[in-house]
Amino acid sequence: MSLTTENIKIISFDVKDIRFPTSLEAHGSDAMHTDPDYSCAYVTIKLKTGLEGHGLTFTCGRGTEIVVAACKSLSDLIVGQVVSDIYKDFGGFWRSLTSESQLRWVGPEKGVIHLATAAIINALWDLWGKLLNKPVWQLLADLEPEQLVSTIDFRYLSNVITKEEAVELLRRGRVGKEERMNQLLALGYPAYTTQAGWLGYSDETIYDLANKYMEQGFNAFKVKVGKNLFQDIKRLELIRNTIGWDRILMVDANQIWEVQEAIDWMKQLSHFKILWIEEPTSPDDVLGHAEIAKALKPLGIGVATGEMCCNRVLFKQFLQANALEYCQIDSARIGGVNEILSVYLMCKKLGVKVCPHAGGVGLCEMVQHLQMWDYVALSGTMDGRFIEYVDQQHDQFVNPTIVENACYMAPRTPGYSTTLKPEAISAYENIP
Ligand SMILES: [Mg+2]
Repeated sequence: MSLTTENIKIISFDVKDIRFPTSLEAHGSDAMHTDPDYSCAYVTIKLKTGLEGHGLTFTCGRGTEIVVAACKSLSDLIVGQVVSDIYKDFGGFWRSLTSESQLRWVGPEKGVIHLATAAIINALWDLWGKLLNKPVWQLLADLEPEQLVSTIDFRYLSNVITKEEAVELLRRGRVGKEERMNQLLALGYPAYTTQAGWLGYSDETIYDLANKYMEQGFNAFKVKVGKNLFQDIKRLELIRNTIGWDRILMVDANQIWEVQEAIDWMKQLSHFKILWIEEPTSPDDVLGHAEIAKALKPLGIGVATGEMCCNRVLFKQFLQANALEYCQIDSARIGGVNEILSVYLMCKKLGVKVCPHAGGVGLCEMVQHLQMWDYVALSGTMDGRFIEYVDQQHDQFVNPTIVENACYMAPRTPGYSTTLKPEAISAYENIP
């Protein structure tokens, strides 16, 4: 597609409420979300030519209908647009969604309206990839630095990063790109798994799943904690006895603790050789995370957070305050790909590792593209980084993630890997 000559209009917009009954077997359960039904608001944007882009934002069951309503409220800003105009000034288009003069009051740039923005923006990236016949990671890696930067709204970021600095980082990031692309295509990108550690699982299930994933080559495991200290100690003893002491272990409290409680609790678990504590407290508490990070650093435990961080401004503050060591962007949150790119660029500038969150519907499918772009065209390294992997709902997608030897293999099909199978939609659409 030539961006200047095509004149194709978006003719329709559809959004569906899709819910998978995962709570029946405690898949996805943690200290705060004890019975999630993995769900999504699923957006379809259709061109006059018939080509469709699909995008989603992840939800946990009840409430998906609210995100669906928010997507519908934004749809008037999409239908009738010439698609090439969007990509010529994607940053400007993004701002037209997030700063619509009346709608912005119900955010701004946070909460349900921003989840809806993410679903829509993700559908537009899927569409762009399909138009250019490239997987999104490659589309991103092939964009000229100025083009990539033009997709981002830099408002509120200039005291940490400017457009010009971002272009420079991307120029430098391109050195050695072909070599890294070849390596990525051959070997993939390392993953860790959370699948053995959901809070609602029995000891037998944890033991069996840890063994299953070790057999598949996994060397890094994450376990949910935070409900009961005695049970956490028992669970970590079980997992360490199963995976040994050479494999990497992380824990995730999903926001359950007070700040001091997080520090005290983690001191009781520190002898289990834990790489990071994830979401120890409120996802909005920048200074609280900074305090926890400072207290746990001497114990060798890093702080990880980001899966519920509401926008680039909050990420900026976490980074400015040294409040996280591992930045966990989520592909279905903040305002979709465009805003997430700004977080990657800030992390690159400030030397923070990005280890994406992916526990949810379609999150593995999407986030692999972003992390692969980062490796190929920005950070240039996989050192100390991995992508979360959960083995759920992949069979519902037309182009599911492929994981071999505990590595995500680079997607080869055009788009953002976000298209659900028609039979998944008909079986799991929630129709009130
Ligand atoms: Mg988490």
